[in-house]
Amino acid sequence: MALFVTLRRLPPVRPTIPHKKKANMEKIEVAVSFPVHGTYTYGVPEGLSALVCPGKRVMVPFGKRRITGYVLGRDTREVDCDRLKPIDDVLDETPVFPESMVPFFRWVAAYYVHPVGDVICEALPGGINPLESAVYELVRESTPAAGECDDPLQEQVLCALRDKPLRSAQIARKTGCDIPAGLLLKMEKKKWIQKSRQVFGPRARTRKRRYAKPAVQSDRPIDGMGLSGPKCSILSLLAEHGEMAVDRLKAEVPRASDHLRDLSRKNMVEILEKPVYRDPFGEAVEPDTPPELTPEQRRVVREVTHAMKSGFSAFLLAGVTGSGKTEVYMHLAARTLDEGRGVIVLVPEIALITEVERRFRARFGQDVAVLHSGLSAGEKLDQWMRVAKGECRVAIGARSAIFAPLADPGLIIVDEEHDFSYKQENRLHYNARDLAVVRARQARAVALLGSATPSVQSIANVASRKFREINLTRRIHSRTLPEVAVVDLRKQKDQRGTARFITAELKEAIQKTLARSEQVLLFLNRRGFASHPVCARCGEPQKCRHCDITLTLHKKSNIYKCHMCGYFRAATSRCSHCGSEAIKALGMGTEKIETALRPLFPGARIARMDRDTTARKGALVKILKGLKNREIDILVGTQMVAKGHDFPGITLVGIICADLSLSFPDFRAGETTFQVLAQVAGRAGRGASPGRVILQTYNPGHFAIVSARNQDFMEFYNQEVRFRKAIGYPPFSRMLQIKISGKDKDKTRTHAETTGRICRQILVSGDSKCGSVEVMGPIEAPLSKVAGRYRWQILMKAPSSADLQHFIRRVFFENHAHFGSRDVSTAIDVDPMSMM
Ligand code: ADP
Ligand code: ZN
Ligand code: ZN
Repeated sequence: MALFVTLRRLPPVRPTIPHKKKANMEKIEVAVSFPVHGTYTYGVPEGLSALVCPGKRVMVPFGKRRITGYVLGRDTREVDCDRLKPIDDVLDETPVFPESMVPFFRWVAAYYVHPVGDVICEALPGGINPLESAVYELVRESTPAAGECDDPLQEQVLCALRDKPLRSAQIARKTGCDIPAGLLLKMEKKKWIQKSRQVFGPRARTRKRRYAKPAVQSDRPIDGMGLSGPKCSILSLLAEHGEMAVDRLKAEVPRASDHLRDLSRKNMVEILEKPVYRDPFGEAVEPDTPPELTPEQRRVVREVTHAMKSGFSAFLLAGVTGSGKTEVYMHLAARTLDEGRGVIVLVPEIALITEVERRFRARFGQDVAVLHSGLSAGEKLDQWMRVAKGECRVAIGARSAIFAPLADPGLIIVDEEHDFSYKQENRLHYNARDLAVVRARQARAVALLGSATPSVQSIANVASRKFREINLTRRIHSRTLPEVAVVDLRKQKDQRGTARFITAELKEAIQKTLARSEQVLLFLNRRGFASHPVCARCGEPQKCRHCDITLTLHKKSNIYKCHMCGYFRAATSRCSHCGSEAIKALGMGTEKIETALRPLFPGARIARMDRDTTARKGALVKILKGLKNREIDILVGTQMVAKGHDFPGITLVGIICADLSLSFPDFRAGETTFQVLAQVAGRAGRGASPGRVILQTYNPGHFAIVSARNQDFMEFYNQEVRFRKAIGYPPFSRMLQIKISGKDKDKTRTHAETTGRICRQILVSGDSKCGSVEVMGPIEAPLSKVAGRYRWQILMKAPSSADLQHFIRRVFFENHAHFGSRDVSTAIDVDPMSMM
């Protein structure tokens, strides 16, 4: 970030500004980076007035601190001039977001009941705001001399501070000890040290590179100026190239920096700084040329292009995997760029830059910025600023890319719109897929949601005419969809050992596939070796100490591990209940499948892809490359394999057990199961050879499984909506969940109960706007404890979101004290996805 004014230590006493001057001061509306609802009015001192504009960050006094704020625009609200505070500083040379996004931020803040400053923080790349923190320094005159302090820890602190003032974390690092806050306070009281507040620069900055260029055009020959040899070489290099990076000059001329300094003093060269953008991609991408569209694709492109001319509209593009959706996106993106407008492309969150991102880069080159969680803080900032400055007009990334700072987006694409990763489940609980439609509406743009297995919500939006549906029904090159065979696992009851889950049918199919030198993908939605270790003596499942779930055995690392909080203990440890050593490894996971396969297919090269095997940087790429280069014959994996990758060599997909997610205590369990099965099945036969799927299940008659077998999302939808309608769940109602959690069991429970009472009081208060709201709970969350925090929830439902919004505002804003509790935290989840 180009910090306009280097942050300095301000004088402790701010100059007072006379009343009359304040009355004439320009006033701006600022959203502060502090969890408060509403925005604040600040004055702009004359000297900063030319630098302030919407979208820039400013440093403002806020209570006793100084924090970062975001300028939203001119403020016309009435304020008491005596209380009007001026801003301290303007932090940016160029705005970090366009003014056109301000209404969007306000909408998000209002809808998700979230402070608008926090919304903007969430949108911007992390680590760019300067922070104020406490700094300790010695009070020289009253500090004991070295060695005269009798407390060894205090002596160490004094020693650490001898060179320069430090933050408490820095003191801890320098001394290598834990420094209790009380200790510093004690030393402060003795007047040995003193504390002050100081502003520190941001973690992430744009990187600058120095360039040199010839300053004056002179006809005199360089060697006639009486300069030394190296200086002459520099001047002739510059005469030849015009402008050169100082780094490059250094490589050619020894001690070039020193010579450049002299030359610049003599006004013979000019030194300038320019931002450099780190390339996050590593691998170069070959440019591609667009193929000729199929008649079906052409029809879709025509329909959307036509709609683009008349402002906002939203489309659901339903098309089987491999039907050419990505190609359609790219064609429409090109049209949008031709109109001079920008494009946002959202892709599901995976550890890697996705296939879609790669293909967009191949087509649009330097016009593409990638905003992806896989980038470092600095890289993310670079990409962001390129968009903010209008240098890139295609922004592509996971859910947070919905906040890409494009001034005028004309097309917003959501690929795999059914994917749950568009929903953020912490801090600001937003759904990027829904926000895509909101932003498109505000920008008079087109929202295009694509999927082979559209969400129930989006199909319902088609039914209610909010979205228009367009279809791609055929795979490119007329490749056929894989044939799916269902194997009833109930009939395997009498089988022993591995034959229970690698059935005779599956085994034979694998053998045949391997014999043809083709590849196999085996899917199981659970990692680890055994997901249900149970004590053979007392029967107790082995649970996490911090969470209310069973541990999973990981045989390779020889531990029991908690998949919620990461807690683990040795696999050799005894039953946590009775101390017995005999623990049975029930349940299965991808690791068990992998282990079982080795003796069955001794010649095959087997790999596993799940969170455990891909945790290390580069590990996932290695697996994908291995698959592409046919160095892997069988890949075992979790839902990670269902996402976004294109494996042309895979002709057999085996679904080990389709039912794992069906029994989740969540009304979307059927939807999730259908989607993941249909997506995994769609991984088969994407290359030239036809594909085959073996789907093993205990519920062959369940409609989610039957419709996944038929790859028919409408068949699934038609049955699912009947059930949703009967119980009045979305899409037939709107929901909101209050999530309450705390470390103390009783306090959390009491807080939840009080919150429930507050809700009910408002319900009976006779407010007609709340009449339709239904409140359920508080109940203990299905996962009643995670990472040491007890969890409760209150669910509310209403036919319209307006009523829910009105209700939750009253609950929240009329009970500040209750929700300001230190011990128990409360989050509002509008349109919740996870009921766990
Ligand atoms: P989807 O996104 O629906 O899975 P893709 O756009 O990835 O489908 O298309 C599948 C494959 O077909 C890709 O390899 C793509 O390059 C190719 N393809 C797409 N459209 C065409 C076309 N019109 N002509 C030739 N090949 C195409
Ligand atoms: Zn845990
Ligand atoms: Zn036991």
